[in-house]
Amino acid sequence: MPDDNFRPPFDSPGGWALARSAGASRSGRRAGAATESGPYSSSAARVLVVEDEADIAALVAYQLTREGFRVETAADSNQALSSIEREVPDLLVLDRMLPGVSGDEILRMLRKQPATRGLPVLMLTAKREQEDRIEGLELGADDYLTKPFSPKELALRVRSILRRVAQPTPEAGGRILRAGTLAVDVSAHSATLDGESLQLTPTEFRLLEALLERRGRTQSRRQLLERAWDVEPEAARRIHTRTVDMHVRRLRAKLGHAGRWVETVRGFGYRIRVPEGERS
Ligand code: CA
Repeated sequence: MPDDNFRPPFDSPGGWALARSAGASRSGRRAGAATESGPYSSSAARVLVVEDEADIAALVAYQLTREGFRVETAADSNQALSSIEREVPDLLVLDRMLPGVSGDEILRMLRKQPATRGLPVLMLTAKREQEDRIEGLELGADDYLTKPFSPKELALRVRSILRRVAQPTPEAGGRILRAGTLAVDVSAHSATLDGESLQLTPTEFRLLEALLERRGRTQSRRQLLERAWDVEPEAARRIHTRTVDMHVRRLRAKLGHAGRWVETVRGFGYRIRVPEGERS
């Protein structure tokens, strides 16, 4: 049934105007700015759960609240988008199957908007076809959970995603990975090229991190899947490698002139290598 009440907030000429600037500052935080509360802690993190099945939403909310998260629930896309418009959450738990506008469509819209482009998303699905998982990851979900799942497992995944995007204190002395004029501060989750900050999604960041950790060495798509998507080897086998290709393309585009440092090794995978003469 089509949802006549759905207003696509992103199709307006000015894009999606967030009611508050919270979204922008949150994105900035991930890019390296200081925070009031310091590193993410579960007690500070706000999670929006978008799920139309009331008992599942309640179960998830119960578990996350119990573990110290601030939780809000939304039963459809309208509720979800107006909640995000009020305040961009620290993480979105997003069901794929929603009445009216699907979770996939919501994710697609969020990824187009600067304020929500880097918003960590854990997708839920009832379907078990591997194609679903592939699509979810291609759309830019950070992780994926198939129903039925244990609420504790969900809470673990939420924590793990938030850890990945967490902002450490500068004194913590982050590990810096470099290639030429490209620098990645692993713990700060910030990346710069020629001293300019790069705006990467969590997955693009981890992909770059994985490439830089083995700079100059070729890694297979499967290796990159395991590293950048944080999936078990067993799960990595089920995800189509074109997912990696697509994210590499996006990463290259964001790297501009340094995009060609990410080399395709035909029939095998990718490596990052800075040509002589471009190293400083
Ligand atoms: Ca559902």
